[in-house]
Amino acid sequence: MIKLSRFLKPFQIPIYLVLGLVLLQSLAELYLPTLMADIVDNGVVTGDTHYIWKIGGLMLLVAAGGMICSIVASFYSAKAAAGFGKLLRSKLFSHVGNFSLYEFDKLGTASLITRTTNDITQIQQVLVMMLRMMVMAPMMCIGGIIMALSKDTKLTLVLAVSLPVLVITIIVIARKGIPLFKAMQVKLDKLNRVLRENLTGIRVIRSFNRVNHEKKRFNEANWDLTQTAIKVNKLMAAMMPIMMIVLNLTTVAIVWFGGIRISNGHMEVGDMMAFLQYAMQIMFSFVMLSMMFVMIPRASVSAVRINEVFETVADIQDPSEPVSAKAKKGQVEFQNVTFSYPGAEMPAISNISFKMNPGEVTAIIGGTGSGKSTLINLIPRFYDIESGRVLVDGADVREITQESLREKIGFVPQQAVLFTGTISENIRYGKEDASDADVHHAAEIAQAIEFIENMPAGFNSVIAQGGTNVSGGQKQRLSIARALVRKPEVYIFDDSFSALDFKTDAKLRAALKAETTSSTMLIVAQRVSTIMDADQIIVLDNGEIAGIGRHKELMETCAVYREIVMSQLSEEEIA
Ligand code: ADP
Ligand code: MG
Repeated sequence: MIKLSRFLKPFQIPIYLVLGLVLLQSLAELYLPTLMADIVDNGVVTGDTHYIWKIGGLMLLVAAGGMICSIVASFYSAKAAAGFGKLLRSKLFSHVGNFSLYEFDKLGTASLITRTTNDITQIQQVLVMMLRMMVMAPMMCIGGIIMALSKDTKLTLVLAVSLPVLVITIIVIARKGIPLFKAMQVKLDKLNRVLRENLTGIRVIRSFNRVNHEKKRFNEANWDLTQTAIKVNKLMAAMMPIMMIVLNLTTVAIVWFGGIRISNGHMEVGDMMAFLQYAMQIMFSFVMLSMMFVMIPRASVSAVRINEVFETVADIQDPSEPVSAKAKKGQVEFQNVTFSYPGAEMPAISNISFKMNPGEVTAIIGGTGSGKSTLINLIPRFYDIESGRVLVDGADVREITQESLREKIGFVPQQAVLFTGTISENIRYGKEDASDADVHHAAEIAQAIEFIENMPAGFNSVIAQGGTNVSGGQKQRLSIARALVRKPEVYIFDDSFSALDFKTDAKLRAALKAETTSSTMLIVAQRVSTIMDADQIIVLDNGEIAGIGRHKELMETCAVYREIVMSQLSEEEIA
C-alpha cells in the first residue's frame, strides 16, 4: 500500500484540503455538546431566554459549519480517489504495454484484467474511507476523552468498563474477518477465470456438449465465493447489534450514575447530557477504527497484486544508445542464433544462420512444432535470443529501438487478430494516415475486395469483437491487407495462407509478388505449392536447419524436404 502512495502525489492539494476540513468538522462536533451543556445549565435552569437564543444561535452556526466542511470534504475525497484510480489504471496499463510476450505468459491475461479493474476499485474505495476516517477517528476518540474528562472525571469510569468490551469485540471480529476478506479476493479471481474461459470458449463448450459440466464448474466457483461472502456478512452483521448493546448499556450506566451524582449535587444536568454525547462519539470512533482495520487488509491484498505487476519489469528494453541501421533496406540476417523459451529444457531453435535480401522471397517449411513461429518472432524482437545475432538492416535488433525496428516490419501472425471497429479501421491499423485509395489497394492485393464489397456497408462494415463475424480465411486476408498498407521493408507471413483455398492462395501470391518487388519477403507455410518458387527455402526440423536452397536443390540434397514434398504432391507435380 505504501508503495502505491507515490501515485497520490498529484492529488496532494485536495487530500490536504480534505484532511483539514475533516479536522474542522471533528472540532465542530466536539464543541457542540459543550454548547448544549451551557444552554441547559446556564439558560434553561435559570430561565434566561436571551442566553438560550444567543448560545442556540452559536450552536446552529457551528453545526452548519461542520456540515459544510463535511460536504466539501466528501466532494474532494471522492474526486481525489477517483483521480488516483484513473492515474493508477493508466500507469498500470502503460506498464503492461511494455511487457514482452514472456511477461504476459507469466502473469496471465485474466489476472491482469482483474488487477487493472477490480483491485484498483478496491483500493479506491478504501482511499475514500481513509481520507474521511484517518483524521476523524483519532480526533473524536482523543478529543472526546479529553472533553468527557473535563465534564466529569468520576463518570469516565463507566467508559473504562465499556471501552475494553468494545475493543475486545472488535479484535475478535477483525481476526475472524480479515482472513475471510483475503480469501474472498482469491475466490473472485477464480470466478473471473471460470467465467472468462466460458465466454471465450462458448463454441467449443457447446459443440462438445459440456454446457452442464461448465455450469457445474461455474456454480461451484460461485457458491464458494457466496459462502465466504455470507460468512463475512454474518460476522459484520453480528458486529452492529453487539456494538449497539454496548453503546446502549453505556448510556444506561451514564444516566444511572450521572443521576446519582446530580442528586448528590456533584454534577449538573447539562454536563451529564454532554457527557452522554461524548461517550457516543468516543465509541463511534472505535467503530470507525474497526472498519478501517477490516478494510485495510482487504485493500492491501489488492495493493500487493497491483505492485506485483509494477515490479515485473519487461525483459526487453530499448538500448540506452540506439544505433541507426547502416546496410541496405530490408536485409535480415541470422548469425548462429539459439533461443529457448524461459523454463524450457531444450532450445526451441538452435544454430540458425541465413540471410534474406530485398527483392527476394524466403520461405520456411517444417513440421508443426519445428520452431517456425519461434524463429520469425525473433525478427521483431518479441523475445531476446540467447546466443548469436539477429541483424536487421545490418544492425543488431538489440541495438536499435523497438519502435524503429518494428516500423520496418509488416507482420501477419499465425492467429489473425482483428479489433472491434470497421474494416477500413482495421486495415488502417497498419498505417494510420493511409489514404482511402491505399486501403482499397491493399485489400485488392490481399484478395479481400470481393467479400468486403459483398458486405452490407463495404469498407465501413463493422467487425465484431474478436472478429467473429468473418470467416477464418477472411480474417487472414484482412490481416494481410493490414500489413500491406504499411508498405514495410520486410514482410513476415506466419502461415497466413493456411485458411485460403488453393485458388485464392495462388492469386494472392501472384498479386503480392508484383506489389513487393523491392521488399524482403518471409513466408512460413505448410503447403509446398505455396513456397515452391521461393528464392530460398529453409527447411526446419526440430529447431535446426535441415536444408537451405531452392526447390530443385533441396529435392536432391535434403531428405526432410523430399519427405514433405512426397507427402503433398503427386508424382507428375514433383517432376
Ligand atoms: P511451429 O510454428 O513450427 O509450429 P513453434 O515455433 O510455435 O512451432 O514452436 C516450437 C516449439 O516451441 C514447440 O515445441 C513449442 O512447444 C515451443 N513453444 C512455442 N511457444 C512457446 C511459448 N510461448 N512458451 C514455451 N514454449 C513454446
Ligand atoms: Mg507456428
